[in-house]
Order: sequence, then structure tokens, then C-alpha cells
Amino acid sequence: MSDPRSRIPSVDALIASADFGPLLEGYPRSRVVDAARGAVDAIRRRIGEGNGPDDPADSAAYAGIAEALLEAADVPSLRQVINATGVVLHTNLGRAPLADAAVAAMAAAAGQYTNLEYDLEAGERGSRYQHCVSLLTELTGAEDALVVNNAAAALVLALTTLAPGAGVAVSRGELVEIGGGFRIPEILERSGARLVEVGSTNRTRAADYAKVLKSGDVRVVLKVHRSNFRITGFTEQASLEELATLANEHDVPLLHDLGSGLLMDPQLLGLPGEPRPHDSLRAGADLVAFSGDKLLGGPQAGVLLGREALVARLRDDPMCRALRVDKGTLAGLESTLRLYRDPPRALDELPTLRMLAESQEAVRERAEAIAAELTGGGVEAKVVESSGAVGGGTYPGVELPSAAVEVAGPAEALQRALRAGDPPVVGRIVDDRLLLDVRTVLPGQEGELTTRVAAAVASVGRL
Ligand SMILES: *Cc1c(COP(=O)(O)O)cnc(C)c1O
Repeated sequence: MSDPRSRIPSVDALIASADFGPLLEGYPRSRVVDAARGAVDAIRRRIGEGNGPDDPADSAAYAGIAEALLEAADVPSLRQVINATGVVLHTNLGRAPLADAAVAAMAAAAGQYTNLEYDLEAGERGSRYQHCVSLLTELTGAEDALVVNNAAAALVLALTTLAPGAGVAVSRGELVEIGGGFRIPEILERSGARLVEVGSTNRTRAADYAKVLKSGDVRVVLKVHRSNFRITGFTEQASLEELATLANEHDVPLLHDLGSGLLMDPQLLGLPGEPRPHDSLRAGADLVAFSGDKLLGGPQAGVLLGREALVARLRDDPMCRALRVDKGTLAGLESTLRLYRDPPRALDELPTLRMLAESQEAVRERAEAIAAELTGGGVEAKVVESSGAVGGGTYPGVELPSAAVEVAGPAEALQRALRAGDPPVVGRIVDDRLLLDVRTVLPGQEGELTTRVAAAVASVGRL
């Protein structure tokens, strides 16, 4: 018998066939030709492996493969996923989901012209850095504010502007790595500043700062929120007030890298105390820096607050241009900040705060409804206790008591099938069981989630 590969049609013949007609209507010709080539390669490979089509001359088989290739190439790289990990500010999953109002403001700014750098009253060039300033100063009591790309950029800008070639005093207990390659000593070095280490890892007193300040070599005192880890036991650290007094005496600014930018009362979120921007300013920090997309619940941004003269220096530095914030971000941040004028409304409308504040009972109720829907559809599932986290490098060691849907079946295979679905679902495996923590499943996603789980269970069953 002759080699079935000799009966594979030419790419030209496939393109001319009736089976390829609909593809040529839906896609540019060059893409269809590439896909036809891909289909020929695939069928040739299958024949080589002994499982080719019954009739290698039939163009329908090639058209089917070509269509799948064209569709696969059009799946976006950045996709919506369902977060069933229970980690609210999941950095890998894009941190804070935004309030509806912020989403609408960002979409509007993206699709239209705006007064981004235009002074509507004067009819002349304005500054993009004027946006969000009045809201930020109103909410925090700061003299002035500046918004850049993210908190890392805020820190780089502050250090390059205020301490080029000069010493920056940091406690040895605060030389942390936040994640994503962000290490305080390295950022400092790359900003052209020189690290002046103070005290020891577990204990750094005001007197230790006083010693390095006396050397006259230090141009900035930097206090860093440790964010993602805790030091316990035999510890001591200088208070912000003590640092402010010392920095003031030596006429150098005190810069506080706060990380998270919590504006809400943590008690309302059921979370332990956490220094907030206005606490830090009141305690005497000259500049504070924090993220827009952590506990603030807004878009990715870096906010700098503090003394007018310092903020003006940062705003005027050429480096600021390289770190400048996008109009969509400004629109989303402004809209997010406006919600904080009415804290109960912020708690209600900011998804991050709502998820953090939701009681375990409320999460369990939602989990019960999802589990009932699944069992009703013949999928074995039950509700179990779960433990979520705040995430985003905040509140290390704080667990959010939560509820999850446990789906019966081989956990790894189910997890893989869920990730391959559309939209993908990301859950957690605990003791070889697949858990879908419902705290981070957004309202309105429950139906999609049950559909995806049922499909994953069915596909795993077929393996
Ligand atoms: C998260 C964090 C940063 C970085 O913030 P980004 O907005 O992600 O750049 C910097 N400092 C501290 C203390 C942080 O917790």
C-alpha cells in the first residue's frame, strides 16, 4: 500500500476547497494559508504516529484543524480569571479589582480626549500632576501629593531626587525584599544613594539613628514598612515620632515607605491596626509613599504625600517624567479616592474592602449556594472551612477565616483542567484536595464558576 502521506493535498488545493471558504471569509488570507500549513504538518505527524484520518485527501479534516489554530492564536494573553484562592490582593492575579465607578472612569478616559494636561479655565497647558491632589490632601491632611506609576517608582523618585550620591539611613531590620525583585538595598543603590545601615536586624533604637546622623553623611532617613514579614521576640524599633524629631534636628527629610496605603479604619475591616498615611504624616514623616493597588483598592499607582517643598522638588525632577502616570490610572484613582469621602460607601463599593470585611458566615452562605448548584448538577462537592489571606505583601501571618467548596476528584488534574478553561479558575490544593475559596469569587461569577467546575470534572472523568 502506498504511503498515505502522498495523498495529503497541497496548501493551494486546500485553500481553494469549499471547506476553507468560511475561514477565508473570517480571517485574512495570509493567516488562513499559515493555518492550512499548520494543519498539513499536524496531519502528516499524526499519520507518522499511526493515527491519521481515514481519508488523508479530505479537506474537511484540515479545515477543522486550521480553524482551531486560528482561534487559539486569537486568545488574548492577558485574560480575566476567577480568583478562588482566598488571597484578596493576589499580586499574580492583578491585585485589587476596581470599583464599578473606577472601571467606568478608566474606560471613559481611555476612549476619549481628556484635560489631562490642559487647564480648562485658563485655556492653556496644564499639569497632569494636578489631578487627584486635592482629594489626596483632603483625605490625608497632607500639604501636597504626587502620583506616579507605582510605589517602587515613588521610592526611586524620592531617593534619586533627595539623596543623589548621599547616604540614606535605614534600619538593618528594614532591609527587606517586598517581592517581584524589589529589594530595598538594591533600589537604594540603583537610585544613586548610599545605604547607611542602622542598628541590628531585631533591635534598632533612636540612639543608633542619632549616631549615623551625627556623622553628617546622611541626607535622608528612610523608614520601611516590613510588609510581608514579621520580626518577633527580642525586638525594638525607634518610633516614627523619635525619628521625626531626630531628622528634624539634623535638617534631613524623613521618608516613610508605607507600602499599602490603607485609608479605611482597619477595625471596620476586622483587621489589626496598621499605620495609615495620615498617621504617618501626623507622627512627623516629611514624605510618605504607598501603592494604589494594595489596601487602597485602586489601580496600580504610587502615591507620594508630604511637605509642599519636597513634593515640588520631586515633581520637577526629570526622573518624574520617566515614571509618569497614565491618564487611565489617574481617572481610576480619582474615582476610587472619591469613594473614601463616604467610608460606608467605600466599604460597600470597593471590592477589596468588601472582600476583606465579609464575614465568614456570609462567605459560607455563598459557598453553600455554589456547592448546592454543583451537587444538583451531579458534581460531588461540599463546603469546608478555609483560610484566606490579605495578600499583596500586607498583613503577614493574618488569616482570613473563610469557606471553600471542595470538589471531589484528583486535585492536580482538576486544577489543571480549571486553569485551561475559559475563563480560567485558580484555586488551591490543600492535602491533595481541591479547594475553591469563595471569599475572592466576585459577585456575579458564581454561575460561571459552577459551569467551569462541572466542565473540569467532566473532562477529568474522560481521561
Ligand atoms: C508593595 C510595596 C512596595 C512596592 O509597591 P508597588 O506599588 O508594587 O511598586 C514598596 N514598598 C513597600 C513597603 C511595599 O509593601
